Amino acid sequence: MKEVYLDTFGCQMNVADSERMELLLFHSGYTRTHEKENADLILVNTCSIREKAEQKIFSLFGHLKPLKEKNPDLILGLTGCLAQQEGERLLGKMPFLDLIMGPDHVEDIALAVDRIRQTGESMVWSTWDERKNYSIPTLEAPPPGNPGASAFVNIIKGCDKFCSFCVVPFTRGREKSREAEEIYSEIRQLVDRGAKEIILLGQNVNAYGKRGMNDPVPFHELLYRVAEIPGLSRLRFTTSYPRDFTRELILAYRDLDILMNHLHLPVQSGNDRILNDMRRGHTAREYLDLVSELKSEAPGIALSTDIIVGYPGETESEFQDTLKLMEQVGFSSSFMFSYSPRPGTPAALLADSVPEAVKHERLQKTLEHQARLTEREARRFLGKDVEVLIEGRSSKNGYEWKGRNPEYWRVHLSGASLKAGDIVKVRVDEFSGHTLMGHALDQ
Ligand code: SF4
Repeated sequence: MKEVYLDTFGCQMNVADSERMELLLFHSGYTRTHEKENADLILVNTCSIREKAEQKIFSLFGHLKPLKEKNPDLILGLTGCLAQQEGERLLGKMPFLDLIMGPDHVEDIALAVDRIRQTGESMVWSTWDERKNYSIPTLEAPPPGNPGASAFVNIIKGCDKFCSFCVVPFTRGREKSREAEEIYSEIRQLVDRGAKEIILLGQNVNAYGKRGMNDPVPFHELLYRVAEIPGLSRLRFTTSYPRDFTRELILAYRDLDILMNHLHLPVQSGNDRILNDMRRGHTAREYLDLVSELKSEAPGIALSTDIIVGYPGETESEFQDTLKLMEQVGFSSSFMFSYSPRPGTPAALLADSVPEAVKHERLQKTLEHQARLTEREARRFLGKDVEVLIEGRSSKNGYEWKGRNPEYWRVHLSGASLKAGDIVKVRVDEFSGHTLMGHALDQ
């Protein structure tokens, strides 16, 4: 068998795309290797959401180039969002590349590799097919190995929101949902193979059902139907967009025990002028109202978010509004970034007016503020019993297993006679950052 080395940057969608490519290539005669030097095919699945990720990718290809020079039969491919955004231009920077392929062609990876082997020519594949529905067909032979206790399932791709700072609508295209029957069938297969938890995945997951389906199903209805799949113990979804959050979806948190008590709900800023400039389509008050409605229907729900500081024109008092909103919500964790312009986005046309030193200082303050909020949230678990789905072995000293509680905190635990996939009660003894530590109670 030939060997493929796969490297993945960026979000969970990219991780899922890489897993899919691995599976399709497996069916086409490739096994995965973790040694680049042995590979017949190297694929780097890229991200262009931030400048830093791009720089890392270019530096990685600088290291891969000598392998190609040593072995001209090696196929070197760059896939994902950077491929979609830059397309042919990448060949100018890196003429040694064999394949440049956008995320819309993941299903065709084996075909692309075969064609390059046959013709010996580089291939750039970054077109969109707007007519094509979003489908991830089930393969006849099950994938090798087991899916783990917690598995991701793509349900929608793309985004129609065009937030001013974001490349996703340009790299992933418009929102397209997968047919519900295809999703149920994939989940049933995963549960049959041992998965206990399913995380429904998409850039804008709660826009599910609006476009690209022959048989449209609203997102909340999809949740109710997935919850009925026998053998499934836990259900989550990510990432959500505040404006697409419906009352029915909030009620799903109240009604479905299987829907875990956590929501990742990006807010980006706590200031109305900045939110408006970002084209987020909601105010800080509307976001807070949504959060309080959620908290009243799902008491104890943990909320996490994404935050950008130093957006063009952000003043100190506008930045302070973000800290205030964080406090009001009490996020258990946040992904926090300082703004960097992304080529091709509307915000990139604005003067990047906040000095780097100020951005850095605001980011530091945001990180410190979140650390305080996380500590406050962690304390409410101390000495309490939480239910943990065990995902695997812990590498933390003194603990045997690791998993997650319903609120999506990482939990390390000690306990005998356990295995991945078990759901156990754990007494929380201590915490560190967004991690809880404890011991399994006798079952
Ligand atoms: S909703 Fe999210 S993915 Fe869509 S444009 Fe805005 S930030 Fe990007």
